[in-house]
Amino acid sequence: MTLLTSIPFTLDTARLMKKAHLPADVLDPQVIRELVQSAQMHGRPKALYKPVFVQERQPNAITFEGITFHSRALAENLKTIERGYVFVATCGTELDEVHVSNGDPLEDFLWDHIKAAALECALNELRRHLKKEAGWSRSSSMSPGSGDAEIWPIEQQTNLFKLLGDVRAHIGVTLTDSCLMIPNKSVSGILFPTTIDFQSCRLCHRADCPSRRTAYDPQLWHSLYEDETAVPQSDNR
Ligand code: SF4
Repeated sequence: MTLLTSIPFTLDTARLMKKAHLPADVLDPQVIRELVQSAQMHGRPKALYKPVFVQERQPNAITFEGITFHSRALAENLKTIERGYVFVATCGTELDEVHVSNGDPLEDFLWDHIKAAALECALNELRRHLKKEAGWSRSSSMSPGSGDAEIWPIEQQTNLFKLLGDVRAHIGVTLTDSCLMIPNKSVSGILFPTTIDFQSCRLCHRADCPSRRTAYDPQLWHSLYEDETAVPQSDNR
């Protein structure tokens, strides 16, 4: 397993406000400056990853190191691939520790975007490392719980963490009983080489998602799930 714990974290305030869709004058400039300075001083984005090798394949499932993930889309994405990398990336627990809400929802909203920017730094660093280590020219990723619920059920987050060992001890990320991660700005998943970019948004019916990266792709959906028995019913929600 490889740990990335010294990830540079700097914030561009103009970019941050734009990403948060906030006009520059929505908050006192001094407040914005203090939030940004505090985040840059205390923020420690982190990531960990490790290679995993396919042990067994089925049309709706794939097994690494004795741990099976039930996902038709994941099995399809990895059908010609022997090695992937499981990972968790996070904004780091420090940003949760340092910010005590004063009840101003706009400040809390901006702080959440600051945490998202820290997570973005962690993900970029992770991709840089993996590009070098794996030698892939192009890669995509899938995350449990991303896209429609049945694509890769969020409950399988537990197995992904098992593959990575003590994630909490290494980078402070914990799983709740409902398989959500704390800090909330954390991402887990598997990265794999690809020739055509895969985005879970292509298999997501959610309307009006502000984070949508690409359009829903009905053709792809039907190619994977036209036979209803292919959907892992027991793991759906
Ligand atoms: S559309 Fe939104 S909810 Fe659906 S996979 Fe994309 S980012 Fe996630």
